[in-house]
Parts: sequence; C-alpha cells; structure tokens
Amino acid sequence: MMNVAVIGSGTMGNGIAHVFAQHGFAVALIDVSQPALDRGLATISKNLDRQVSKGSLPEADKTATLGRLQTFTSLEEGVQRASLVVEAATENVELKLQIFRDLDQFAPPEAILASNTSSISITRIAAVTRRPAQVIGMHFMNPVPVMKLVEVIRGYATSEEVTARVMDLSRQLGKTPTEVNDYPGFVANRILMPMINEAITALFEGVAGVEEIDTVMKLGMAHPMGPLQLADFIGLDVCLAILRVLHEGLGNPKYAPCPLLVNMVMAGRLGIKSGEGFYQYTPGSKELAVSERLRK
Ligand code: NAD
Repeated sequence: MMNVAVIGSGTMGNGIAHVFAQHGFAVALIDVSQPALDRGLATISKNLDRQVSKGSLPEADKTATLGRLQTFTSLEEGVQRASLVVEAATENVELKLQIFRDLDQFAPPEAILASNTSSISITRIAAVTRRPAQVIGMHFMNPVPVMKLVEVIRGYATSEEVTARVMDLSRQLGKTPTEVNDYPGFVANRILMPMINEAITALFEGVAGVEEIDTVMKLGMAHPMGPLQLADFIGLDVCLAILRVLHEGLGNPKYAPCPLLVNMVMAGRLGIKSGEGFYQYTPGSKELAVSERLRK
C-alpha cells in the first residue's frame, strides 16, 4: 500500500485525505491543531456516510477507508514513510515555504512534494527545497470528493517523470488531471477570477442587480452557480487575494480588483463564512436572499 501524507486538515485537506484513503492509499493526515484533525475525521466520516446512503459506496468500504487513515500533530512523524506529500495548509507564503523546508528535511529523499495552493508559485516553493524536480502543484477543487478536476501544475524545474507520476496517481483517485504550467493563477483562477471580478464590476456600475447577473450566467451559460454566489462560496477575501496575485504577477490593469470587492472585504462581508456577501445567509436555510445593502 502506498503511503501518502496530507498536510492540513481543513476544508481541502480532509477531502484530499478522504479520496486517497478511499482509493486504497495509507494516509497520514497532519495538522498543527488537534481539534482540526478531529473535525477533519468527523467530516470524512459524515461524507462517507452520505456516499453509503446514496449507494455509491459499500458499507464495508467506509470502514476500510477509515482504517487507512492516521492522524498526526507532528510533521516529522507523519511524513516519515510518505512516497507523496500533498500540502493543503493555510494559504500563506511564509508558512508554505517553511513547511516545504521541513518536508525536504523529513520526508524520504525520493518522495514527491505537492502543494494544493490556489495562488502561490510552485517554482518559488520548489526553490526552498533541495529537490525542485520533485515539487509540483496538485490543485484539487472544492468539494474534493465530488469534483473531478485536478489541475496539475508543473513548476519551472519539475521533471517529466514526476509530472507523469502525479497525473497517473490522480487518475487512480478517479479524477481527471490536467497539466498546466506555473504562471500566476494557473488556468482555473486565471479564468475564473476575472469572470467573478467582471460580474462584480457589472454590479458596481449598475448594469444589473445581484440576482439578474447570476441568473444570466446560470440560465444563459449553464453555470450551476452564478458568479456572485460562487464568490460568496469561495470567500470574498480569497477572491481578492487571488486577483491581487494575478494583478501583481501579470502586471496587466485588466486584473485590478473592483473597488466594490475591496470595500466588501474591508467591511468584513466575506460571503458564506461571515454570514453575508452578495447574499445573506440564514443558518439552516437554502433560500438565497440578496444582501440588504446591495438591493436596488
Ligand atoms: P483551511 O483554513 O480550511 O485549512 C487549513 C488547515 O491548515 C487548518 O486546519 C490549519 O490548522 C492547518 N495548518 C496551518 N498551519 C499548518 C502547519 N504548519 N502544518 C499543518 N497544518 C497547518 O484552508 P483550505 O480552504 O483547506 O485551504 C488549504 C489550501 O488549499 C490553501 O493553499 C488554499 O489556497 C487551497 N485551496 C482551497 C480551496 C477552497 O475552495 N477552500 C480550493 C482549492 C485550493
């Protein structure tokens, strides 16, 4: 059984651990916070239950999946036997650089070190290790057990062999890997974030209201969620941070974040996680109500 270590037991980390364990890998789930590990395991168990009740997973596979998961609060212990490490810790450059220095020291020399970062350069992360050819991006989408895509990001120094191996491992998870090069925002966010920013700009300029913009994109373009609802789901602070990476990294004014987005983040209206963004969220309700502040 191949050993995989996942760093970070938050939204993405527990999903990544879930899919590896479900597909027969022995998984070490590592977090600095024991409560985060407990929450991660509880989420995995709940999501496996959902798969069992939908009939997409036999009950015995749930038990076997949980049996392949171990948790650690020590990175050094958790990565000792890993052939692949997938880092999904908080999106912060200094934190990730330190984690990769530690991984380089404690993971076996032949191990592949992958990051699930949405916006930090893989080439920059790779450069702090002594094995830049073995550092790569594995960008899973949220929710990980459901979404088919893995954006595989090849850093400037990533080898052909490591890229092929990660493409193959992603297929073993039932995912569809897509190879892209390491430039700001990769492909997913390079295209998604300007679309979200344009939707916010259309609202800002009074072209249409929140629901009208989302309806056009849902019914007209067959998007499952409108761009403003999606921005609330991702987190407006996250959208702003990624737009800033695009703007700085590519130097083109077309990526400048809309002032309305900047204001909303400054006001703490971050979307679902703060209870209000373009819409306001009532716990337990699936009804979408446009934020009072943004009603016409
Ligand atoms: P999150 O805040 O839900 O979880 C991050 C976890 O990392 C926390 O449990 C935290 O305790 C842990 N952590 C912090 N420092 C650590 C360390 N030194 N060692 C081990 N664990 C540590 O964040 P998330 O949304 O799961 O995002 C994780 C990564 O995935 C980020 O790089 C983010 O850009 C990327 N990502 C997020 C999404 C998304 O939709 N949320 C989608 C794609 C990629």
